[in-house]
Amino acid sequence: MKNTLILGGGIGGIVASNILKKAAGNDMQVTVVDREDDHRFAASYPLLMTGQRKPEDVIRKLVRLEKKNIHILKQEVKRIDLLKKQVSSDQGDLAYDYLIIALGVEYHPESVPGFEQYALNAYDLNGVMNIYERLNNFPSGQIVFFISSLPYKCPPAPYESMFLLDQFFQKKGIRHKIKLTLVTPDISPEPLAKPQVGQSVRKMLADRGIELITEAKVLRVEEKALILDHDTRIPADLLLGIAPHWTPEVIRKSEMADKSGFVRVDPDTLETDYPAVYAIGDAAAVRLPVIGAYAPKAGVYAHYQADIVARNISLLSKGEKQTHYYKGKGT
Ligand SMILES: Cc1cc2nc3c(=O)[nH]c(=O)nc-3n(C[C@H](O)[C@H](O)[C@H](O)COP(=O)(O)OP(=O)(O)OC[C@H]3O[C@@H](n4cnc5c(N)ncnc54)[C@H](O)[C@@H]3O)c2cc1C
Repeated sequence: MKNTLILGGGIGGIVASNILKKAAGNDMQVTVVDREDDHRFAASYPLLMTGQRKPEDVIRKLVRLEKKNIHILKQEVKRIDLLKKQVSSDQGDLAYDYLIIALGVEYHPESVPGFEQYALNAYDLNGVMNIYERLNNFPSGQIVFFISSLPYKCPPAPYESMFLLDQFFQKKGIRHKIKLTLVTPDISPEPLAKPQVGQSVRKMLADRGIELITEAKVLRVEEKALILDHDTRIPADLLLGIAPHWTPEVIRKSEMADKSGFVRVDPDTLETDYPAVYAIGDAAAVRLPVIGAYAPKAGVYAHYQADIVARNISLLSKGEKQTHYYKGKGT
């Protein structure tokens, strides 16, 4: 029996484990390692922020996968030894025949001066629940939603959040007392999509009276303001931010990381430079061939990448050739 170790029980890890177990059956032991007990479905956080979902709607225990004969280990991954084909965790060493790295990214609000004191993290469950509390007691004033740096995951989520905020205050009948501002380092909304997408989003923002500030470099957060370069000061009564994203330390200190800390992969197969080792999802450095930027980091991309990798591992473990290639699919 072969053994696949999947690091990370987020979207990429869960999808990979399901598809691989189905494809390879009893010939493959599939183990998912995550530091958490639960999977949190972050795509629903904007709806939590405005009270349209509750935390229990978006959290599931990872051990539910054991019903499908997928092993779940609650452990902190500390080191990946690519030569020994072994992963070290806080509870010991784990050997593998195939390894899928799906460790995602972590938030570093401390890297933006003032973020932790004066802003709420719109990408983190605790931050989102605090935002919900604040929105319910926000009678009037300016709300500034800012993206600290690129790349950030789910490029549409800040726009979705602004539309939900607009709707939230419309329903309360106080939209006219609220100024909504979105600040982004991008040159336009959704710059990796067709230009029509950015133009449509700009129009949707304008139609709802939502201000958009593009090409912004966030320098620091103050008690009632966001400070951009050239000393531009955006006043705010409530600051909602997306903190800078870094891959987990176990990746950044490994030989697999590129200079931005993401795992170098073959964009067609998601294979790393090391045999039988793959990386998928937010942690993978999937480059777009033409512009050289990272492909968007989103759950839907993690899902399709997981599908390709799981099917190929199943074929390889049976002595067959891999036949599945990632074509940059996303929606
Ligand atoms: C507000 C918001 C809205 C979003 N909306 C959408 C959307 O509408 N559509 C969409 O496609 N995407 C959306 N996304 C993005 C999506 O959630 C991510 O792109 C997706 O979860 C990435 O999957 P992943 O498997 O790469 O990483 P993750 O899902 O982040 O999983 C990584 C896992 O690794 C674990 N881990 C990390 N380090 C360690 C370690 N050292 N040891 C053990 N375990 C570790 C973590 O606990 C985590 O469970 C949204 C994200 C946010 C925050």
